[in-house]
Amino acid sequence: MGDARPPFIQFQDIKKRFGKHEVLLGINLEIPYGERFGIIGVSGSGKSTLLNILIGFLSASSGSIYFNLRDILKEKKTIRKTFGFASQDGSFYGELTVMENLKYFGTLHGMSNEDIQKRAKGLLALVGLSNATSTLGKNLSRGMQKRLDIACAMIHDPKVLILDEPTEDLDPMLRKDILLLIKKINERGTTIIITSHILTEIEAICTKIAILHSGKIIETGTPADLKGRYYKNEEIHIETSPGDYDKISKKLSKKYVEEIEVLEHKMLVRTPNVDKMMYDLLSAVKGSDEKIVDITVSKPTLEEVFTALTKGKTI
Ligand code: ADP
Ligand code: MG
Repeated sequence: MGDARPPFIQFQDIKKRFGKHEVLLGINLEIPYGERFGIIGVSGSGKSTLLNILIGFLSASSGSIYFNLRDILKEKKTIRKTFGFASQDGSFYGELTVMENLKYFGTLHGMSNEDIQKRAKGLLALVGLSNATSTLGKNLSRGMQKRLDIACAMIHDPKVLILDEPTEDLDPMLRKDILLLIKKINERGTTIIITSHILTEIEAICTKIAILHSGKIIETGTPADLKGRYYKNEEIHIETSPGDYDKISKKLSKKYVEEIEVLEHKMLVRTPNVDKMMYDLLSAVKGSDEKIVDITVSKPTLEEVFTALTKGKTI
């Protein structure tokens, strides 16, 4: 049986040109409900442009975007209600307090004071700003400012939260906090669309990914899908003592050996089936006088997939 549900968000042949510069050459993309959906691409590939079109801040040169089958580029009201957008540059006001910012953004969405108060309480608790309601935006730490941005984008309880490079200017610890927050928001039922140029981050947090390159979406799938599509083998590095690697390698099932390399102190086995090969290796060592010194499995990273697909362009 096929999936009878209509696509949640669907981009259909979205093109965007700035003067003679064609940035998006026909984007076709489906974003299902409930995902943490990552859009990756090198700097200048058009990620922000695409998000700004989705949110109605920029108009597309041609094409459509459907939300639950509704052609939303013609429905600014639906867009505003459905999406919350934390832009790359940040959107809160430094001269307003945390609470005043939420009030401001709530009012823009036509919410009553009472609704804003009600919503703000839970929202501030969620983003961890309950104790900073009367602090001016400009006096918050960088991490807290990012949280305020996210809160402002969510004041009207949008179905979809769109985050353009939310961790761009944060140090690693703060990044981790923000990623955990994004995950928490998603687990409460909000679909997430996120861009980032830090692929390990995208790989860690996203349930689905699309790669934007040369104006088109060239791949979509889960991080595991993408890696599986481009890398059939994984590597096991094993170091044993005394280290008779010829003897060990003779005991491995040929079926699961793609390649063996014996280096000075260790052996490297490329295999399409890590589980089976690990079992073989451990059995081989167990039935001998060898002792394991070190064993590691290295899986391909999204970064490698991206580099392979975009021919060496770094993000
Ligand atoms: P990314 O977010 O992936 O870094 P952007 O969407 O910001 O990429 O930009 C994509 C391309 O479009 C860049 O070459 C950029 O210079 C160009 N661009 C973006 N916005 C404008 C604009 N308002 N006017 C002219 N060119 C623009
Ligand atoms: Mg950008």
